[in-house]
Amino acid sequence: MNRPLAEAPWPSTSGTRITAVRTFLTAPQGSPYLIVRVETDQPGLYGLGCASDPQRTLAVRSVVDDYLGPMLLGRDPADIEDIHRLLLNSGYWRGGSISGNALAGVDVALWDIKAKSAGLPLYSLLGGRVRDGVRAYTHVDGSSVASVVEGVEAAAAKGFGHVRVQVAVPGTDTYGAHGADAELVRSRNGRWDSAAYVAQVPAVLREVRSKVPRSIELLHDSHERLTAAQARQFLRALDGVELFFLEDVLAPEDADYFPQLRASTSIPLAMGELFHDVSQFLPLLRSRSIDFARIRIPTLGGLTPVRKLVAACELFGVRIAPHGPGDVSPLGHAANLAVDVSSLAFGIQEAATLRDATLEVFPGTPVPVSGSLHPSPAPGLGVDFDESAARRFPPPEPGDHDRWALLRSTDATPHRP
Ligand code: MG
Repeated sequence: MNRPLAEAPWPSTSGTRITAVRTFLTAPQGSPYLIVRVETDQPGLYGLGCASDPQRTLAVRSVVDDYLGPMLLGRDPADIEDIHRLLLNSGYWRGGSISGNALAGVDVALWDIKAKSAGLPLYSLLGGRVRDGVRAYTHVDGSSVASVVEGVEAAAAKGFGHVRVQVAVPGTDTYGAHGADAELVRSRNGRWDSAAYVAQVPAVLREVRSKVPRSIELLHDSHERLTAAQARQFLRALDGVELFFLEDVLAPEDADYFPQLRASTSIPLAMGELFHDVSQFLPLLRSRSIDFARIRIPTLGGLTPVRKLVAACELFGVRIAPHGPGDVSPLGHAANLAVDVSSLAFGIQEAATLRDATLEVFPGTPVPVSGSLHPSPAPGLGVDFDESAARRFPPPEPGDHDRWALLRSTDATPHRP
C-alpha cells in the first residue's frame, strides 16, 4: 500500500480532505469507460473524472487504484497543481497513455470538486465563457458516394454544419467506413491497401463535396495510415476539395514531416489525437505546421496540463479541436466543453452520438442541439454518474475491444490502425 502524499507545506485553506478514490468500469456505449470518483470529508462533495483508455483499461485502473488513489488520502483537493505534479513525478518515468489517463481521471475529478466547492460551472474557473455554445461535428460513414451524401443531408437536417465523412472505396475500406466487400476482406485476412486509398478516396471526396451544399463543411480522417510520401500525394490529389480539415494524415512518429506538408498545401491540417504528452504539440505549434490541435484530455493527463497547452495554442494561432468520439465518456465530453467555451483558441468540437443507455448512466450529459453543444450551468462538470445504472452495462473482456486495431497491409505487414 502506498503511503499518502506528504502534507502540503502550507495550511489547508479549504479545510477539505480527500477520504477515498474509487474507480468504476462500465460500457453503456459499448466501449469501456473507466470512471474515477474522488470523495471528500464534506457531505455530498465529490469529484468525477474520465480515465478511459479503451485499449488498456485495466492497466489504467491499476494505476489509479494501486498507486495514485492511496497517495491522495488526506490531501486538500484544492491543491490541484501541487498534487498533479507530485503524482506525475511519483512514476519517475513520466508520460505514456496509461499514466496519462490515470492522472487525468484524478485531475479532472479535483477540478470538479473545486468548481462544486465554489458553486460554479467548471468553465468559470478556466476564465469564464467567451461563447455560450460550441459548434460540433458529427460522423457520417458509408460505402458509396450516394450513401455518404444521404448521411450528410440527414446530419444537416439535424442542424450540423460540420460533418466528418469517411468513404469506402471498391475492394477496401477506409477508417470508419466499410466497403461493400470489406467485411469479407477483413474477416479473411484483414488487409489494408494504402495505395488504393490514396488513388481513389480523393475523387470520392471531391464528388461528395460537389453534391453537398457549400454551407456544409466536410472533414476527413486519414487515421495515421499513410507514409510521408503517400501523405504528399494524397494532399495534392485533394487540392480543390475544400476540406474544413484533414486529420491524422501522418502518424505521431512521422510528425517531423508536418512542416513539409504545410508548405505544400493549403488544406487545414489537424493532428494530436494520439499524443500522450502536451510537449509533443510544441514543435508543431512553433513551426505553425498544423491548424487544429486534436486534444484528448484523458490521455494527456487532464485539465491541468491541457489548459496550458490550450493557452499555447492561442498564442501560436492554432485552433483546438478536442477529441470526442464515443470512447470518451460524458465526463470527458463535459471537460472538453469547459475548455471549448472558455478558450479563444476554440475551433471545432467532435461530437459523439451517445446511446440512451449512456445518457442514463451519466445524468446531465449535454447533447448536440442544432449542431452545437452547450455546457451545463450546474456547478462542476455538470455531469453525474449513476453507479447502479452503470452496473447494468459490464465492460467487454480485455482484448475484445482491441481487435479493431489488428490491421495488416496488403503484404501482410502489421499496419497502424
Ligand atoms: Mg481521429
